[in-house]
Amino acid sequence: MPTSTDPNLDIQNSQRLFAHAQELLPGGVNSPVRAFRAVGGTPLFFARAKGSKLYDVDGNEYIDYVSSWGAVILGHADASITEAVYAAAQKGTSFGAPHEGEVRLAEEVVRRMPAVEMVRFVNSGTEATLAAIRLARAATGREKIVKFEGNYHGAVDALLAKAGSGVATFGLPDSAGVPKSVTEGTLLAPYNDGAAVEAVFAANRGEIAALLVEPVAGNMGCIPPSPGFLKRLREITSAHGALLIFDEVMTGFRIALGGASERYGVIPDLACMGKVIGGGLPVGAYGGRKDLMELVAPIGPMYQAGTLSGNPLAMAAGYAALEHMGADQYLHLEEVDARLESGLGQVFAKAGVAAQVQRVGSMISVYFAANPVADFVEAKASDTAFFGKLFHALLKRGVYLPPSALEAWFLNVSHTAEDVDRTVEAFDAALAEVAA
Ligand code: PMP
Repeated sequence: MPTSTDPNLDIQNSQRLFAHAQELLPGGVNSPVRAFRAVGGTPLFFARAKGSKLYDVDGNEYIDYVSSWGAVILGHADASITEAVYAAAQKGTSFGAPHEGEVRLAEEVVRRMPAVEMVRFVNSGTEATLAAIRLARAATGREKIVKFEGNYHGAVDALLAKAGSGVATFGLPDSAGVPKSVTEGTLLAPYNDGAAVEAVFAANRGEIAALLVEPVAGNMGCIPPSPGFLKRLREITSAHGALLIFDEVMTGFRIALGGASERYGVIPDLACMGKVIGGGLPVGAYGGRKDLMELVAPIGPMYQAGTLSGNPLAMAAGYAALEHMGADQYLHLEEVDARLESGLGQVFAKAGVAAQVQRVGSMISVYFAANPVADFVEAKASDTAFFGKLFHALLKRGVYLPPSALEAWFLNVSHTAEDVDRTVEAFDAALAEVAA
């Protein structure tokens, strides 16, 4: 199996840095999936990025399908973002007090997201989901939360039950250090299974505060909601007096101007956001119905706070990102990713490799499986070892995918048809190498 130690790819500087990093940072990284454990080999260290390209510390160029896990929707180091950040930094990196940038970004978020009448900015998606479930519990006076197997909502204790992303990558059912008492109130259902959700609600009548869902699952690869699934979740939660929370940290401002709520026409009570609204800087947000958001301190009894929340640099970057995302940009993302979807479908068919290319807007991934993948069990049953081989064969051909079979790939506005065609050619050659 070719690995990143393959002689065709000189990554000596990355390897040297990784060896040193491992002495100082657990696993050499600050977020587990980055360590390449799911695909083998050693991670690359990047020196810079521009548009759709990453450049490692050995000078190799890659077409990037991580896009900082969906955060850099305009592409890397886009001038509108860097200029906005620079201008903001010159006026002060943090006030710890209100400023106009927060109001400007809030206005844009409220204007775009159908469910959001009021919003609170935080520093990560993790903080957003943590606060949203606290708010749901405060609003309903109930304690139980329902989530889906394989959905990931950040490294929140109560939500680390059968979570996707890094937790799934390493096959851990849960995290060590999470008290049982904290996850006891977390009920699970298989994704895309409305009947299972009905059953969970029926068995816990009057006790469920909220149902939290990734409206398009992106942390076990990319799994679209089956037709009618989100609508059914809306009906079940309403019937039981529970809140519906869309975790739009990935989908928000990405799969449509107004995220999944707009794309699927289902309006949740609360939405969690992140990634795109920070333009590549650390941001998260939660928002929703005004009567719910007015339960948040200082006007309500639900406490939540943050030293750097509403940070001026992050607000400026997020505003610049949203300002530059209009109908043309969404259309471009759709077209370029559709081209990738069909190109990949053709090369897999030609190579005789059973593969499912699954896509919603600019989120896409490939499962090596005979049938379309609809839930966590099916995602985990796909051939992840084959993905690992292909990952390395692509890396040395200049294509950087997420280093795990169970993650979605993200395009950004700077990806071109030419990038996609080069990627499809690289897949063709990589398949000839690894499927032989
Ligand atoms: N929710 C979803 C749907 C996510 O994809 C992620 C991160 N990938 C999070 C929450 C957590 O966000 P963060 O990593 O910014 O804490």
